[in-house]
Amino acid sequence: MKLVIVESKAKVKTLEKYLGKEFNVIASMGHVKALPSKQGSVLPEKDFQMIYEYVKGASSIVGDIAKKSLKTTKIYLATDPDREGEAIAWHIYNSVTQYLKNNSEISTDTKFSRIAFNEITRDKVKEAILNPRDIDMNLVQAQQARLALDYLVGFTLSPLLWKKLPKCKSAGRVQSVALRLICEREFERAKFDTQEYWSVLLNFLTKDNKEIKAKLTHKDGKKLDKFDISEQEAKELEVKLREKYFKILRIQKKKSNKNPPPPFNTASLQQEAATKLGFTVKKTMQIAQKLYEGIQVEDDIVGLITYMRTDAVVLSNEALTQIRDFINTSFGSNFVPTKSRIYSTKTKNAQEAHEAVRPTNVNLTPEKIKDSLSDEQRALYELIWKRSVASQMKSSVIETISAEATCDDGSHIAQATESYISSSNCYSIIYNSYDEYDDKIEKASIMYSLQEGESLTTQSITPKQHFTEPPARYSEASLVKKLEELGIGRPSTYVNIISVLQNREYANLDKKRFIPNFTGSILITFLENFFDEYFQYNFTAKLEEELDEVAKGKTCKEKLLNKFWKKFNEKIKTIEDKSYQEVSDLMAKALEKIVFPKEDSKKPCPKCGEKNIEIKIGKFGPFLTCAQYPQCQFSKSVADYLSNDIEGNTQNDLVFEDSNKKEISIKHGKYGMYIQQEDKENKSIKRISIPSGLDKNSLSKDLILKMLDLPKVIGQHTETGENVYLKVSKFGFYIEHQSITANIKYKQDPFNIAIDEAVKLLTQTQKLKNKKATTKRIKK
Ligand SMILES: [Zn+2]
Repeated sequence: MKLVIVESKAKVKTLEKYLGKEFNVIASMGHVKALPSKQGSVLPEKDFQMIYEYVKGASSIVGDIAKKSLKTTKIYLATDPDREGEAIAWHIYNSVTQYLKNNSEISTDTKFSRIAFNEITRDKVKEAILNPRDIDMNLVQAQQARLALDYLVGFTLSPLLWKKLPKCKSAGRVQSVALRLICEREFERAKFDTQEYWSVLLNFLTKDNKEIKAKLTHKDGKKLDKFDISEQEAKELEVKLREKYFKILRIQKKKSNKNPPPPFNTASLQQEAATKLGFTVKKTMQIAQKLYEGIQVEDDIVGLITYMRTDAVVLSNEALTQIRDFINTSFGSNFVPTKSRIYSTKTKNAQEAHEAVRPTNVNLTPEKIKDSLSDEQRALYELIWKRSVASQMKSSVIETISAEATCDDGSHIAQATESYISSSNCYSIIYNSYDEYDDKIEKASIMYSLQEGESLTTQSITPKQHFTEPPARYSEASLVKKLEELGIGRPSTYVNIISVLQNREYANLDKKRFIPNFTGSILITFLENFFDEYFQYNFTAKLEEELDEVAKGKTCKEKLLNKFWKKFNEKIKTIEDKSYQEVSDLMAKALEKIVFPKEDSKKPCPKCGEKNIEIKIGKFGPFLTCAQYPQCQFSKSVADYLSNDIEGNTQNDLVFEDSNKKEISIKHGKYGMYIQQEDKENKSIKRISIPSGLDKNSLSKDLILKMLDLPKVIGQHTETGENVYLKVSKFGFYIEHQSITANIKYKQDPFNIAIDEAVKLLTQTQKLKNKKATTKRIKK
C-alpha cells in the first residue's frame, strides 16, 4: 500500500480513480499548521524562528497519516505545484515525523517524496508518480519569508496604530499598498474637474436612401479639437449647416492586423471572468480550482484545465501541437498561422507552475462536455478554452473605411468612419471581439457604395453635449491587473489581498467598484507620512522579487528578513517615540489634501463666515472646526462633511419624522441627492440614493418611506429558489438575483413588480448578455 497526500477532497476522488487500489489517497484539507495571530509567533531575535500551531482539526489528520504511514512503503506528497503547496507538503512531512517520534514509533523519513502536477490527467499523474523528487526547501523558505514579513508588519504596526490613530485597527504589508492605490484613485477623482464639451453630429442620406452617421471635424476651414466648440457655437452650427449642401470629398480605406490575445494567466483570467461573466475574483478561482482538480465526464474523472495560479502565458510544446492540430481539423488549415505563436512571460520561477491556464485536452470542447458541467463551470471553461484556441489562430484583418463630406463652399467637413473584420479565417471566429465588428459590415458596405463627388441629403444635425470623466474606480479585477502591472503580489495571493481589503473595512465595494472610506484614507495618510518607503509600490514590488530570489535559492529567508526587519523596527521605534500631539498635528495638516482636494474647496466657516474651517484630530477622529475657535464654536465631523455639502442642513428639502420618531430628510450630497433617515436616539443613520432620473416632485412621503424599506425581497426565483431583491441606486431602481441585475424602466412602478415579472426581466437581461457573449459565424 502506498499513500498519496493531497489538499482537497476533490483531488482525492480524481487520484483514486487514476491510481487504483494500490494507493490510499488522503486529503490534508489545506494547511495543517499556521502562524497563530498573537504576539510572539515570529521571533526576530532567534533568527526569525516561526512558532506554528496546528490548524483546527489538523492534528487528527496528521495522526491518521502517521498511523497509516507505518503500514506503507511510500508516501507521496501531491499538494499543488507552487510555494503554498510546497509549504503544505513540508508541514505534513514535519508533523508526521514529529508525531511518530513523540509516540516512539519508527521514523518514516525515507518514505516521503514530493510529486506535483501542473495538470491532473491520467498520463500526467502516472508520469509524476514515476518521477518523485524531494521537497524543494527554497520554495518552502520563500513561502515562509512572505508569511513572516506579513506577520512582522501586521503585528508591529497594529499596536502603534491603536496608540496614535483613533479608529484604525490594523495595517497589512500588501493590502495597505492596494488600499493606497484605491485612495489615490479616489483623490484623483475628487480633484478632477469635469469639463463640458460639444460636438455636432450629422446624419446624411445617400442617393439610395441609406443613412450614414458623421461628425463635424472642420469648422470654417479649421480642424476641431475636443474643446473647440461651445454650447452656443454648436447650436449656431445646427442652424447654419442646415442651409448647406454636402457632397463626398474623399473616401479612404485602411487595413490593419489585430493579433489574438495571449492565453490566460491568473490575473487576466480574473479580469475577463469579471467583465464577461460578472464573477468576483474569489468565485473565478473557486470554479477554476474545481476544473483543475477533476470533473466527472461520462465514466471518467478529468482535470479539465492546467493549474490556475500562474503568472505565465506560455504554452507547452505538447499543448501547442495539440491546439494547432485541433484548429486545422475543426476550422481548416487557413486558420493556422505558419508558425506557432510563442508568448513569453516576464517572471520566471523555474520550479513553479510555468504554463498558462489552458484546457488539458483541447478536443474536449465546451459543447462536448456541457452536460458534465454546471452553468458557471461551463462558462468559465468556455472562456479558457476559447482564449487558448484563439491564441494560436491567425490575426484578424480590420478594415477601416472613412468618408469625408464637405459643404459646397468647402468651409465645413464632416467625417463618417466604420471598421469591420474583413478576414474570414481568423481568431475572431471563436473569440468574442468578432461581435464588435460583425454588425458593422452592413454600415461599411453603405460607405463602399459611396462615390467621390456624390451629393448627400442632410437628414438631421444634432449638437451633442459631453462631459469629461474622471478615471474610473478600481474593480476587484482591475485592481488585480494593476497590482500585476506593478509587480505586487503573486497569483496565489491576489484573492487574499482583495478579501482582506474588504474584511478590514477600509474600503467598500459599491456597484463592484472600490471606494475607500474615511478611516481607510486616514490610515493611508498616516502610512504615507510616517512609513512612506515601506508602502511604496516600488518597495513592495522589489520585496516580491527578493522573495522570488529565495524561491530560486539565490538568497536565504533569514538574510531577507534580517535586512527588512532591522530598518523597519528602527522606524517603528522612532514613530513610537513621537508624541500624540505631534502625530495629530501632522495628520491634521496632511488630511487637508483629502478633505479639501481642490484649491477652492476650502470654505469659510458656515457659522461666523469670517475665518476658514480647519481640521483637528480629536478623540473620535478628525473633525472640522473654525479657525477662530473658541470664539466661534463651529464643529462638524469630517465623515459627515464628506458625505454632505458643508451647508448640508440649509439645503434640506423635506424634513419629517416617521412613526418611529426617526428624522427623515432629503439631502444634496457631493454625488447627488439622497434620503437620510436619522435615528437620534440610537445614533444611527441610513442613507438611500435618489435616482438622478427620478422626478423630484414625485417624491411623496409615501414613496420616501417605501424607498427607505429597500432592499426588499420581491420573492423567490422560480429556478433557484433564492431571493430576488428590489434595490435602488443613483442610476435607478433595479432587480437583483445572485449576481445578476436588471434595471427597471422609469415609467414602471418598481414597488408593484410581481415575482414572475421580475424573473422575466432577469431572464431578458441575461439573454441579452448571452447574446452579446456568444460568438457568431462570419456572414458570408
Ligand atoms: Zn466660525
